[in-house]
Amino acid sequence: MHEEEPRTPHWLFGDQLGPHFVDPARGGPRRDAPLLMIESKGVFRRRRFHRAKAHLILSAMRHRAAELGDRVRYVKADTYRQGLRETMGDDPVTVHHPTSYAARDFVQGLPFVRVLSARGFLVGHDEFKRWADGRGTKHLRQEDFYRWVRTTHDLLMEGDRPVGGRWNLDHDNRQRPPRGATELGVPAPFRPQESGIDAEVRSDLDRWSRSGEVEFVGEDAPRRFPATRREALTALRRFVDHRLATFGAHEDAMLAGDETMSHSLLSSSLNLGLLDPAECVEQAEARWRSGDAPLNSVEGFVRQIAGWREYVWQVYWYFGPQYRASNALRHRVPLPDWFTDLSPDATEANCLSHVLEQVRTTGWTHHIPRLMVLGSFALQQGWEPRAVTDWFHRSFVDGYDWVMVPNVVGMSQYADGGRMTTKPYTSGGAYIDRMSDFCGPCRYKPSVRVGDDACPYTAGYWNLLHRHRDRFERNARMTQAVRGLDRLPDLDELLEQERDRRS
Ligand code: FAD
Ligand code: SF4
Repeated sequence: MHEEEPRTPHWLFGDQLGPHFVDPARGGPRRDAPLLMIESKGVFRRRRFHRAKAHLILSAMRHRAAELGDRVRYVKADTYRQGLRETMGDDPVTVHHPTSYAARDFVQGLPFVRVLSARGFLVGHDEFKRWADGRGTKHLRQEDFYRWVRTTHDLLMEGDRPVGGRWNLDHDNRQRPPRGATELGVPAPFRPQESGIDAEVRSDLDRWSRSGEVEFVGEDAPRRFPATRREALTALRRFVDHRLATFGAHEDAMLAGDETMSHSLLSSSLNLGLLDPAECVEQAEARWRSGDAPLNSVEGFVRQIAGWREYVWQVYWYFGPQYRASNALRHRVPLPDWFTDLSPDATEANCLSHVLEQVRTTGWTHHIPRLMVLGSFALQQGWEPRAVTDWFHRSFVDGYDWVMVPNVVGMSQYADGGRMTTKPYTSGGAYIDRMSDFCGPCRYKPSVRVGDDACPYTAGYWNLLHRHRDRFERNARMTQAVRGLDRLPDLDELLEQERDRRS
């Protein structure tokens, strides 16, 4: 349809940086359409972002502008509105569907902006809606969605059956860390070399901080994640060639001396639009077909991208803008300053301190520290889910509204009362002890729930179950756990101890 309009300028948001956002064959702008990019300082002024995240986004945008050369007009403005007005006046512009409600409402409210379909995902909104609505009263479940995506996209399939005969290889992929290991011993992930553009970004960020205009949290040096398509492709290649084969088995394990384990570290590249999810899952599948990576690893990785990432994107839009405000457990406690300031020394819980330190220095952890260390602690302490979502969004290099809201509100804080998951993701210290080497040197003991040595996760777990006993008792997957409360001889003491907990 847009082909009729002569050379309408096309606006690229900062998370629309790959070739699939300027591809006329896939509903994008004409090949000769001028491009517009707006760098808004106001975005950083509104909230205290991790500095590594601000650096990565600005570096990626400026690198993309340098690649596009004369075709792009790169505007530095206070807000998007101002940038648009200064460059376009009221002239027509096209833009691909943005990734947040705020940005979508903004572009839809401007009569001269025409919104093209979303890019960077495997499934279209309409297709998802048809699938979800077609389930009638049945709850939405990621597993069902994932199987549907595998079938409709012919991913790891043999005819209409999954290769190897099983859809789900999670059972092979939840292993604890290898006994006695301090690291997994796999080849290191790709790390980029900084360029002159990074130096420029760093000096701008220094200037903004010095003037007090913008406040950041966390450390920013050196840049650890790809800022260009070329770097992102190299990172993908390195992952599928050297790390994919070992991805599966210890996917959920944590080692203090090995922060990345065998994870791909591709989330920021996917979310900046530097990589397309289709190429990631296709390359992974090819490694299985050529015999270079085992099925459990390849299926585990494909599940993360074609299952979880895709599902999270879809439910963000399907559940609507009110979903972010869900607070089924009525949790209202504000986040403590030590947490928002990323101060690892403020807590003696070794796991939490270690993970906070990793967030402070890198703006990234893999999914289990996010879910079972940071998120689980927030849930147990009754922190306000919206504030927890905002914290994750600001503190992680790959954090965007669409991905944080379902992951935090739904997955990690159970604030939607079970629309996304069948039960809350939380545990006592025993799980962390089984899946990591954090507990050995910790001053607490995972098996102790009351007293000086009491593990905050173990005590916090029982405290949470007690607070929400009525609700959890009605959940078949939780009844067993809730009944455990009746067997605790020291429950009163535990509840009193937890009333005073600060960190
Ligand atoms: P890998 O373990 O190598 O997985 C491969 C890819 O799968 C990731 O790069 C990512 O693109 C995708 N993926 C896997 N799980 C998810 C998921 N639940 N949601 C979306 N994509 C997924 N991921 C983000 O991209 N941005 C976030 O802001 C984010 N916040 C999270 C917050 C919480 C509380 C939790 C529990 C998870 C969150 N995730 C988020 C999902 C996941 O933790 C990260 O995608 C992953 O840790 C990134 O590291 P990786 O690229 O090495 O992932
Ligand atoms: Fe974390 Fe508890 Fe283990 Fe300490 S004992 S590392 S607080 S789970």
